[in-house]
Amino acid sequence: MSTQKFLNQYLESQRLLKTTPSIFKTFPPHPFTKHSLHWPVDLSLRNNRLGNLLAQFQSYYYGYPYFHGGVDIISQAGEPVFATVDGKIEAGFYNYVASGNGYFEKKFIPYGEHKGKEEARDQYFEIAIIHKSGYRFEFHHIDPNKIPNDILIKIKSGGSIKVGEIIGYVIPFHSKTLGENYDHIHYNIISPSGIKMNPEWFSQLISDRVSPKISALWVMDTQGQLTPVHEGFQLSFNPTEFIVESFDQKDDLFYFHQPHKITLLFESGQKTEWNFSYALADENFMPPNIFDYFVPFISINHQKIYTEGDYDHFRFFNRLQIPPGASGPFSIIIEDAHGNTAKFSATILP
Ligand SMILES: [Zn+2]
Repeated sequence: MSTQKFLNQYLESQRLLKTTPSIFKTFPPHPFTKHSLHWPVDLSLRNNRLGNLLAQFQSYYYGYPYFHGGVDIISQAGEPVFATVDGKIEAGFYNYVASGNGYFEKKFIPYGEHKGKEEARDQYFEIAIIHKSGYRFEFHHIDPNKIPNDILIKIKSGGSIKVGEIIGYVIPFHSKTLGENYDHIHYNIISPSGIKMNPEWFSQLISDRVSPKISALWVMDTQGQLTPVHEGFQLSFNPTEFIVESFDQKDDLFYFHQPHKITLLFESGQKTEWNFSYALADENFMPPNIFDYFVPFISINHQKIYTEGDYDHFRFFNRLQIPPGASGPFSIIIEDAHGNTAKFSATILP
């Protein structure tokens, strides 16, 4: 993508953000306990693991970058997918229209109502379970041609299913990530008010003894200049924000994740935090703008390095605004779903 195109998108997203109405009022209560649900595919099998996570930056289609919005569970084509809750079953084909601020509008065509192949692309098929609380559990990339007969009958009649039932099988995805097949189930948990909840919070905790890493930190001054910051540095000017490059890996050391919690904490108590451990929403319960969380690119020695997230490129540059007037010793702490942390400390001289 050209720099100009990227910048235009960025400016457009800023414009759209101002006109996007608030859909969230508060985080909704829900009847589920943390880490209590089973994952929809068997993660004890050798090659199954988590791929892209909830707040991951994605830019697959050379269009608008967007938040992933769910969790990918990398599996093998043909493996069974299990219902994770009781509820009413629904199915259909879907596609997305970019909204420009890091989100998509979803077009959903119920199963049986699609016209022709254009509307019914086999790889974009969804089975959803609507729990009695109103929470919607979505399972994308199930093979629409291999739905079990009893499930098909329930889809057509609006029936209910029970946790643990096989709802379908993983479809072959024909894409490779870091050289490996990316057959996967994309798993969304959506609150009744439309908040994308974090499936990692709801589902069984996955073993992870590997801490996330802060690979670089820069400070941006009022002129937009970036300066690298090193552990223990004393900054003698007035920076406006930090740019932190970080990544996370689960035990398998294979896939690069976006850490879901990043905190800038001053000894004075002032802080700035992105915390998507529970839901894709900011501290005001608003959907975050993707460009408030990620900087599109950084310039180092006149070279632009982009935030990236596609099948082969993972690079995350996160923004942490410095609270007005904050100074003194501070730490930047990043945390993964397991509670492993990485910490970086320095000082802003008053
Ligand atoms: Zn996905």
